[in-house]
Amino acid sequence: SEERSLNFLEEIVEEDIAAGKNGGRVLTRFPPEPNGYLHIGHSKSICLNFGLAQKYNGETNLRFDDTNPTKEDVEYVDSIKEDIKWLGFEWAEELYASDYFDQLYEFAVVLIKNNLAYVDDSTAEEIAAQKGTPTEPGTPNQYRSRSIDENLQLFADMKAGKYPDGAKVLRAKVDLASPNMHLRDPLMYRIKHAHHHRTGDTWCIYPMYDFAHGQSDAIEKITHSICTLEFVPHRPLYDWFIEQLDLFPSKQYEFARLNLNYTVMSKRKLLQLVDEKHVESWDDPRMPTISGLRRRGYTPASIREFCERIGVAKRENMIDVGLLEFCIREDLNKTAWRRMAVLDPIKCILTNYPDGETEIMHGENNPEVEGGDGGRDIPFSKELWIERDDFMEDPPKKFFRLGVGLMVRLKNAYIIRCDDFVKDADGNVTEIHCTYLPESKSGNDTSGINVKGTIHWVSVPHAKTAEVRLYDRLFQVEDPSNEDGDFKEYLNPNSLHILPKAYIEPDLTNAIPGKAVQFMRKGYFTLDKYSTPDHLVFNRTVTLKDGWKS
Ligand code: ATP
Ligand code: MG
Ligand code: MG
Repeated sequence: SEERSLNFLEEIVEEDIAAGKNGGRVLTRFPPEPNGYLHIGHSKSICLNFGLAQKYNGETNLRFDDTNPTKEDVEYVDSIKEDIKWLGFEWAEELYASDYFDQLYEFAVVLIKNNLAYVDDSTAEEIAAQKGTPTEPGTPNQYRSRSIDENLQLFADMKAGKYPDGAKVLRAKVDLASPNMHLRDPLMYRIKHAHHHRTGDTWCIYPMYDFAHGQSDAIEKITHSICTLEFVPHRPLYDWFIEQLDLFPSKQYEFARLNLNYTVMSKRKLLQLVDEKHVESWDDPRMPTISGLRRRGYTPASIREFCERIGVAKRENMIDVGLLEFCIREDLNKTAWRRMAVLDPIKCILTNYPDGETEIMHGENNPEVEGGDGGRDIPFSKELWIERDDFMEDPPKKFFRLGVGLMVRLKNAYIIRCDDFVKDADGNVTEIHCTYLPESKSGNDTSGINVKGTIHWVSVPHAKTAEVRLYDRLFQVEDPSNEDGDFKEYLNPNSLHILPKAYIEPDLTNAIPGKAVQFMRKGYFTLDKYSTPDHLVFNRTVTLKDGWKS
């Protein structure tokens, strides 16, 4: 894409390099918690972290932030790796915060020995109450003055499993009067007798995010630790731990998370949609997950382009999902082969065309490509499927399709004129009768007739069938998480529309998942991952047009 000015993170990195900081080295990390599938918001963070490193000859670690044993799972680890690779990025090292549990424990012991951490027996409610309010300082309790030796013993006992969940916590002794609530003796460790997906039952105490994250960054010598804005107030604590422990001085920088309208983007909420069967799975094509977008037909390039276009903001904002659709349309317009499929069929009979004859028409693959990108044969015959809404019994003026007396061109074939139609007992139109103009064949048209409309078609005896799935927004409101009540009340009941039997031109049986096709006039489609040769299923990735202006 075109030249753009540096974003604020690039400016910081360039200043650091110019100042010779870290010897000019750039090491970022992408730190997902393996408690769900990655979503489009994560792709912003991925493009940013990997993109910055690529631009400045650095590297990026993939670090699983797996300090919360109860919600994590290897299924998620595997999906996260697959999605990052699919987006086109390669990590330097695959690491796990849980691999640092021993080291983190030792760090905690150092802080206790330096009288900078203590074991607190208070309940969560008591701790919250003693923390005070933003305008009132907190009050120390009797545990804050425990001796170093007692703290060392109690912490060792916590680790040894002597206490039940919630009985004690380890807190950093920072400043109970700090205007920053995160510095009012934050929790470092809690007791949780839970099985961990990697460390098994070795541990029954687990470090809190604030104690694990910065220390993991420092252990790996991460130079630029990029996270979202909600961590701004955590930054002083991030720096405090690193300073007190005299570790590698990783630095935290914050950017605005990506919010998309008509979407929810928290893993907790996405998990509810899956568990409560509002969608089929994490990779349901309506989901904003990377796997859902992939199954829907999005390309890695379109998602990277989207992340590039939205830029890096320092203030929360809401991005129009139309921009994401614009990016995939632009990409597929350049690459997708054009094919014909009739989604809502009605039969069109060419009364003057010879019975039983098949003519082979030719269509180019993509008019956007010089030379058409090759082409394919399309069988043509007396009976065709066309779209029901390409015919009207009482067409208004300027209806450039079919109605009695009107003419259209059949794409890659002839001009036809509508003469008549047939209705069933209920008044539904069942057949349209037309005559074709033999001298009007595409590429060899001597008819001298100009028609405004061109429609797609599929020859009845040659047609193959497919199930076609059309998608609409999953939510009916722009910001479902900010409405009254449960976000699920705002689900769009019509987000999936299944057409069980569409007619497709024979060449479409060669479609493969992940390679988009354009169904002319209907949008971009891709074969679903569960499609079989006996039962083809196409997902519509996106329609051809909308109002988005680039
Ligand atoms: P969620 O709320 O969806 O569970 P999370 O932040 O808890 O998100 P993590 O697995 O911890 O999920 O995220 C990994 C990285 O991706 C973090 O650095 C996080 O800041 C970033 N990230 C998550 N959501 C977004 C988003 N919407 N926009 C940009 N970055 C995001
Ligand atoms: Mg997180
Ligand atoms: Mg989360």
